[in-house]
Amino acid sequence: MKIAVGMFKHETNTFSPVRTAWQDFGPGGPLFGAAAYETFRHSGLSIAGLLEQAEAMGGEVFIPIAARALPSAPVSRDAFERISDALCEAATRCDVMMLDLHGAMVAEHYDDGEGEMLQRIRAAAPNLPLALALDSHANITPRIAANCTVMVGYRTYPHLDMVETGRMAGRLLRETLAGRLKPVTAVRRCPILANMLRMVTSEQPMAQVIAAAAAAERDGMPCVTVFTGFPLSDTADTGLTVVATADGDIEKAEAVAQRIVDLAWSLREQFSTDFEPLGDALKRAATITGGPVLLADISDNCHSGGTQDSMDVIEKALDQGLTGILAGPIVDPEAVATMIAAGVGATVTLAVGGKSAIPALRTPLRPMRLTGVVKHIAEGRFTVEGPVFTGMRVNLGRVVVLDTGPLVLVVSEDRVEALDPQQFRLFGLEPTRFRYIVLKSKVQYRPSFMPLAKAAIDCNGAGVASMDLAAFDWKKLARPIYPLDRSNT
Ligand SMILES: [Zn+2]
Repeated sequence: MKIAVGMFKHETNTFSPVRTAWQDFGPGGPLFGAAAYETFRHSGLSIAGLLEQAEAMGGEVFIPIAARALPSAPVSRDAFERISDALCEAATRCDVMMLDLHGAMVAEHYDDGEGEMLQRIRAAAPNLPLALALDSHANITPRIAANCTVMVGYRTYPHLDMVETGRMAGRLLRETLAGRLKPVTAVRRCPILANMLRMVTSEQPMAQVIAAAAAAERDGMPCVTVFTGFPLSDTADTGLTVVATADGDIEKAEAVAQRIVDLAWSLREQFSTDFEPLGDALKRAATITGGPVLLADISDNCHSGGTQDSMDVIEKALDQGLTGILAGPIVDPEAVATMIAAGVGATVTLAVGGKSAIPALRTPLRPMRLTGVVKHIAEGRFTVEGPVFTGMRVNLGRVVVLDTGPLVLVVSEDRVEALDPQQFRLFGLEPTRFRYIVLKSKVQYRPSFMPLAKAAIDCNGAGVASMDLAAFDWKKLARPIYPLDRSNT
């Protein structure tokens, strides 16, 4: 028996200007075969759980392609076609397939990226047993569910169960192959465009919705996933969905999915939030004694498509007179080059950050003019040890630390979400010695950084990952949807 295990993960922010081409999938492009196996078999990603289950089945396991890019603009036509082709080709020469996908992929030429690819795989290999492991931020389309055998999404956000999700998808497929399960799946959409800060599964309203899905599983449903969706994607299918898989009884699957959708809908007000203006958030930060106080720069989170060069939160924090600020990494290859040319110990004055052109933003980002001392120059390579994306290899390119007095800023050539304090410690900066830490992240920083901190404050600055969803120019989103059409839903 031949088992193909593949990965094609992208969370597309249709407002993001950050390119998503072939070479952006992994360092220098996707990985194949042994190189992919070596990188991902013991990673913290779902593909590790899929590989574990595939190996437990015996037979020959192979990885036709493993492609993963940070969230960014729609996937280029070239990258989509080449990666899809590799998976379709593999489908014709295997007996079982397992895929680690994000869901919420938009390609330049298809809004439903996963649905299109899975339909092609089905056409190439009509009876192929196919398991999917998905992110809970997937925007699920009926076409995705119609073109796989089983599908499972994460149950936690921050995502602490990626490997377990792969394991569960693999287990359900094995049960199916053994004739012990006849999976039938219902997809129900709930017209809620949720704020990602309200998707945290340990807090309400999600805790209640997740508990209802777990209760349905305890009552015998093989799998029930609440997909909160990825809101920063302007497609007809964006939004919250519940996907329920029953054993042979489609009416039961539909009833369970509908019941949980009804529960989510009854809690809709809790899925959106009014924003504290940035100035007020920073004033509140200033009243907290002790530290560090984490200032979560939620609107410029690169794991939601952010360019990671917005200086808005940093600039306003300095304007308010805050000192003892550690911030970064800010992505600015030009500033990195200038400071490396000046050398460690040099005093420099330069424009930092705010250089990305973002047509979707009504007010453009602005660079900040800073004067400071170049403290440190390094290569920014490390492996994530924190509980989210454990084992992920990070390459920030060249990194420079600039000290302006009130602000110590890490400037890099490439992006990473704040998942691990190594992004400071590697460069001689101990985060606990600072009063404030500006982190480019929405929620996933919490498991690694909260244990070090006194408090955390959400800062809604300028950026393409903003949760001020009414501020975007929506064209394709299915309307009405809550809360944008509050009065019509
Ligand atoms: Zn996610």
